Amino acid sequence: MHLFQQNVSLLHLNTFKMNVVAPYFSEVTSEEQLLHLYNHLPTEKPLLILGGGSNILFTQDPDAIILHNQIKGIQKIKESNTHIWLRVGAGEVWHSFVLNCLENNRAGLENLSLIPGTVGAAPMQNIGAYGVEVKDFIEEVRFFDFKLQEFRTLKNNECNFGYRESIFKKELKGKTMITYVTFRLNKSPDLKLTYGTIQDELDKMKIQNPSIQDVANAVIQIRSSKLPDPKIIGNGGSFFKNPEIEYKQFIELKKKFPAIPSFKVSESIVKIPAAWLIESAGWKGYRKGNYGVHKNQALVLVNYSDAIGEDILNLSKDIIESVYSLFQITLQREVNIF
Ligand code: FAD
Ligand code: NAP
Repeated sequence: MHLFQQNVSLLHLNTFKMNVVAPYFSEVTSEEQLLHLYNHLPTEKPLLILGGGSNILFTQDPDAIILHNQIKGIQKIKESNTHIWLRVGAGEVWHSFVLNCLENNRAGLENLSLIPGTVGAAPMQNIGAYGVEVKDFIEEVRFFDFKLQEFRTLKNNECNFGYRESIFKKELKGKTMITYVTFRLNKSPDLKLTYGTIQDELDKMKIQNPSIQDVANAVIQIRSSKLPDPKIIGNGGSFFKNPEIEYKQFIELKKKFPAIPSFKVSESIVKIPAAWLIESAGWKGYRKGNYGVHKNQALVLVNYSDAIGEDILNLSKDIIESVYSLFQITLQREVNIF
């Protein structure tokens, strides 16, 4: 039995549905197996860790050895009167883990329901939605460090978590494989209902004293009605981050564009929804052949059938240019480009 398969299609392993081929590929189901694979690499090519492939745009066949994370398991490691600590295999499907927490009354992650991908990728970009970021529930992250060739653990405060950022997406990018994430969850709910339309959705459902399951149901309902399902239309979620700009610049923009929406981040920084900027620049619903900008959500670039990654990357460049020329704001991509 070969340790690595050769020339493996990744078509069904990335949500953009890019039909690329990996020269070498292996599933990783345990830390022991990872070490074994690492000691028997077939070439000097770099390693590329693949989870659910929901935050990746392949623009060409990756010149890399793909390690597909399948490390599973949810283990309770300690408990106090108020909290519970769970050590979770990085290859667990994120939403299945959230469902497991809901079933067992472990609170905190309900607003992060239905985010695609794996547990191991969650710390990468500090996944967030509806006013909650995963960093607030991560105790520590364990990973294999390719350079030091050893397993290491970083505590929450060492992960440099920021808005859709962490040390794993910056300094350690491409240099680690996250194998386990330890979460600290609440025994009593501390619901976050003020963001977006969660409260409206609960009202529609006629729920007055919501449980964590009710909040998750509301989030699932909103997401399913708004976001394109990657099973139907290829996409990688939000292609760009929401830009954070200086308050001074915001005041100038507000004079020119009175309708510009904004959210205060600090006394001097304001967050602007990238979707509004892209839509105002005329891109919402844009379609060229088999790719384009989603008709309901301007932040999401889509592959309608068999588009190539380079076309979508070029479209993102055009959007960045046109948003800049209108608003002097440079959008940053959130999706990882390979
Ligand atoms: P992949 O796409 O497989 O990998 C992403 C990056 O992380 C790559 O660079 C990869 O090499 C690296 N990586 C993956 N696993 C590991 C590991 N174990 N060790 C080291 N590196 C690793 N994101 C949000 O934050 N909030 C949302 O609400 C949200 N909604 C989305 C909705 C849709 C429809 C889609 C398609 C995406 C959405 N995303 C969202 C983005 C995406 O789901 C998350 O970023 C998710 O965490 C990616 O997980 P993955 O396993 O698919 O990662
Ligand atoms: P939305 O509710 O229409 O809001 C638009 C944007 O405004 C969001 O991106 C959000 O920023 C910001 N926003 C809204 N209410 C806010 C508040 N009270 N305080 C601060 N910022 C606020 O957004 P949506 O597109 O339907 O997405 C809903 C949530 O799911 C968002 O949190 C979004 O980030 C997340 N999501 C992420 C992805 C991804 O791939 N990363 C894909 C789909 C959805 P934030 O993005 O900073 O929250």
